Amino acid sequence: MRLDCKHVWPYISDYIDDTVTPEERRAIEEHLEHCEICSAILDSVHNILVLTADDRIFRLPLGYSERMHERIGAELAKAAPGDSPE
Ligand SMILES: [Zn+2]
Repeated sequence: MRLDCKHVWPYISDYIDDTVTPEERRAIEEHLEHCEICSAILDSVHNILVLTADDRIFRLPLGYSERMHERIGAELAKAAPGDSPE
């Protein structure tokens, strides 16, 4: 099972939450080993989650989702020039 970036991104938050299946986890980790873009996205999402989970309230910062989608759109445009993220 081989994934490309577009297929990995929807799984990133589930991957961090550890709610993916063992097969999905292995496919994602395989992809992350050779993909700097997805590793960077995973790192930044993970950092945000660690920071926001640091207190008693577990809540994503306002606008987080929008910024994440902007970021993904930008990375997607870089990774696949000419291929629209929509
Ligand atoms: Zn990737």
